[in-house]
Amino acid sequence: MFNGQRIDTILIDMDGTILDLAYDNYFWRELVPRCVARARGLDPAPAREQVYALYEGKLGTLDWYCLDYWTDTLRLDLRSLKAASSQRIRFLPGAREFLLSAMRSGLRMALVTNAHGVTLEIKRGVAGLDRYFDQLISAHDFGCAKEHATFWPALHAALDFNPDTTVMVDDSLPVLDAAAAFGIALPLAVRRPDTRQPDKNTGQHAAISGLGDPALADLLVAAR
Ligand SMILES: [Mg+2]
Repeated sequence: MFNGQRIDTILIDMDGTILDLAYDNYFWRELVPRCVARARGLDPAPAREQVYALYEGKLGTLDWYCLDYWTDTLRLDLRSLKAASSQRIRFLPGAREFLLSAMRSGLRMALVTNAHGVTLEIKRGVAGLDRYFDQLISAHDFGCAKEHATFWPALHAALDFNPDTTVMVDDSLPVLDAAAAFGIALPLAVRRPDTRQPDKNTGQHAAISGLGDPALADLLVAAR
């Protein structure tokens, strides 16, 4: 898959790539609607439909990922709710082992996420993420989400990476599309971002099961 490819930088997404998306899906699709229903005295099913419709309206925008936006819109203390549910945050299978070996291989490593700074901070703390990375970057610092064409030149200006020798791993197909359009040499899709869900269709992108995929380990060996 990566025949002869020289790489020096790896850009890695957080939710659904390093950490199990099962937590985020639980938080946004189960816990938050339940809390909205309780706070407003609504039945769970219509409350859930209302909340899902609000999410749908913001798909692909930075607001979709913004804890402050949803705190205001849903009138819930989401920071407390995140902190209170953080014991459910888990690494995806093989992710921690991959990060350790990638770190030891001397690759430059950046975590690049659409997650809000508060969410990143909670997950960084729970999973000890900063020990693996040279940089932790939230798209909120650039004012646009990773699926937008404007994000990649901004990230490039901040990190000064060479797109020809950069791998990026993500579970979002629109994000991979944007990275490929910018010229990232190896955008890799994660097939199984949520351990409670079946594999997803990764379209035309080169795909790996996850960071634990042996093909990715081979890539690191070749890069050394
Ligand atoms: Mg993701």
